Amino acid sequence: ADTVQRLSVEDLSVHYGGVRAVGSVGFTVEPGESVGIIGANGAGKTSTLKALMGLVPRSAGRIRLGEHDLTRVKARDMVRHGIGYVPEGRHVFPGLPVEKNLLLGAYSRPWDKDTHRQLEEVYALFPVLREMRERLAGALSGGQQQMLAIGRALMTRPRLLVLDEPSMGLSPKLVGSILDVLRKLREEGLSLLLVEQNATLTFGVTSHCIVMENGEIAMSGTSAQLSHDPRVREVYLGL
Ligand code: ATP
Repeated sequence: ADTVQRLSVEDLSVHYGGVRAVGSVGFTVEPGESVGIIGANGAGKTSTLKALMGLVPRSAGRIRLGEHDLTRVKARDMVRHGIGYVPEGRHVFPGLPVEKNLLLGAYSRPWDKDTHRQLEEVYALFPVLREMRERLAGALSGGQQQMLAIGRALMTRPRLLVLDEPSMGLSPKLVGSILDVLRKLREEGLSLLLVEQNATLTFGVTSHCIVMENGEIAMSGTSAQLSHDPRVREVYLGL
């Protein structure tokens, strides 16, 4: 059951107290594909991801992974279907050591020799986390905490990794390191769904993108097409 499956999101809508934040959004992530969702602050990107993960109520929508209907699956059970989630703002446990944070990421699976192997893979991807494994997570820099948050999600051995603004608050150099890591994960065959305000980063790692405006899909296409679109260049790339 470890084969990568197509994620399909149909007609997804989110309302907060009667106000629509997301309206009828639909997209797919093919196995091994990397899809981006870009858009300005407040466009509905985070709400789309949270609704996909079951973290906010959906007013409509259907979520499928291969043959499985995940529409009614609870957020904490998504991980068992191979979906890893890196929330906006990192949310590491600041009072616990780095390694403990990573091991907590593996919570959904019984501790076994694979847990150790997975820990080694995360340390290979982020050597700085190995160096800092005894340090409290709260003592890490913002960039290191973002790496820890990604590493923790990888501990569940996902087949699809969902990331909410991993570049937020990071220096251009660190954004570059995140880009390198995401590219490496993609080469290893992991499917990615990436929400970002940073369109340059997103186009650098995805094959397809959605542009969200006012809770709806304003544009979609291949990342190459969109990065050449005059309006995208002006509004999202500042060119
Ligand atoms: P950001 O880049 O700031 O995360 P976003 O594109 O992810 O922006 P959302 O956070 O999904 O956008 O917000 C979409 C809309 O829903 C915004 O108008 C926002 O103010 C509103 N909103 C988000 N969360 C809530 C909430 N918990 N209660 C009420 N309104 C909310």
